Amino acid sequence: MVNKTMQQLGSSPSVIRELFAYGLQQAKLIGPENVFDYTLGNPSIPAPEAVNQAIRDILTDTPSIAVHGYSMAGGFEGTRAAIAGNLNRRFGTDIKAGNLFITCGAAPALISVIKALAENEESEIMAVAPYFPEYRPFVEKNGARFTVIPADRQHFQIDLAEVEARINAHTQGIIINSPNNPSGVVYTEETLQKLADILRRKGAEYGHPIYIIADEPYRELVYGGVKVPFIPSIYENTIVCYSWSKSLSLPGERIGYVLVPDSCEDAADVFFAVAGASRALGHVCAPTLMQKVIERCVNEMPDLAAYDENRTLLYDALTGMGYRCAKPDGAFYLFVEAPNGDGRAFSQKAKLEHNLLVVPGEEFECPGFMRLSYCVSNDMIRRSLPAFEAMIQSYK
Ligand code: PLP
Repeated sequence: MVNKTMQQLGSSPSVIRELFAYGLQQAKLIGPENVFDYTLGNPSIPAPEAVNQAIRDILTDTPSIAVHGYSMAGGFEGTRAAIAGNLNRRFGTDIKAGNLFITCGAAPALISVIKALAENEESEIMAVAPYFPEYRPFVEKNGARFTVIPADRQHFQIDLAEVEARINAHTQGIIINSPNNPSGVVYTEETLQKLADILRRKGAEYGHPIYIIADEPYRELVYGGVKVPFIPSIYENTIVCYSWSKSLSLPGERIGYVLVPDSCEDAADVFFAVAGASRALGHVCAPTLMQKVIERCVNEMPDLAAYDENRTLLYDALTGMGYRCAKPDGAFYLFVEAPNGDGRAFSQKAKLEHNLLVVPGEEFECPGFMRLSYCVSNDMIRRSLPAFEAMIQSYK
């Protein structure tokens, strides 16, 4: 006998993974040049050369035990200090090494924070649609209830009236992901200020803090000089979950952190609860080689030229054909309205008739849209355009 919930979770792959697997199979049958796969958010630009060089250097200039051995659960002091220094320079903050807990990427960071905040079985964590689909299992399988704020389908900011209406005495936190997967939208300072006001007011009403859990793997992926507000500077009760998966193209290396600033109410308790949750989940420590790499490369920034070129090409081409699309200021996703108002039907037809693979918005709890990951080759985008044209024509 096994745990049925876990068995079901493990045996039902996400639609994204299913589409991706279909694409791989089709590529074998009809050739990869005839498959247009916009499904996965796997970074396509290489990691900076400085990262590769740091790996080589560390392997030769650092004792083996320090590279391959365990670190403290929360990470090397030097790595945490380097991250704190980087954040303080960029955001004028006063973050210390002790505010940071190094994790194996953003997903474990989120899970530790959710588990840390799930006080009892009535605890609720909210997320704003459209949202990264893994949030639901992350929350529901780690001791909390999951509440969804319906999408603001006009601008893809946050529907603040809905937030206000759905907060209750059990609300422990709200996950905020900006730049957003799947919409590509960056939440404005104004939106975040208003959200902070609501959370302060409701926190006072219910007599406990309502934390923002800022999920920020796309923080550095923005275009056209758009600024991503640093949420702890706007709202004191913000816990940040970060990762270098996207910013340095290192998703397979599993490295990120949780930041619990001193401004958070009960900061020490929250930090220890995060450490405890990580311990309960068997985290042990983040990869030590990568901790050393981050210590040396924390100031590296991605070269976004290729993503920016893809973004412009795809956005201009699709809107030129008549598709409507949320303004893509960040991450590497376009969130496009399905011309027939049915993302699932569009995705299915595009798949079967054109080997064009797009993820239905229904997966992100925002029906009628589809997500396109443009971390792909520019050439694939160009070759896929006739398929998009044929699709929109077929609905006219
Ligand atoms: N949060 C969002 C919004 C994501 O899109 C992803 C990955 O795609 C993650 C978290 C998980 O990132 P990581 O690879 O750092 O665990």
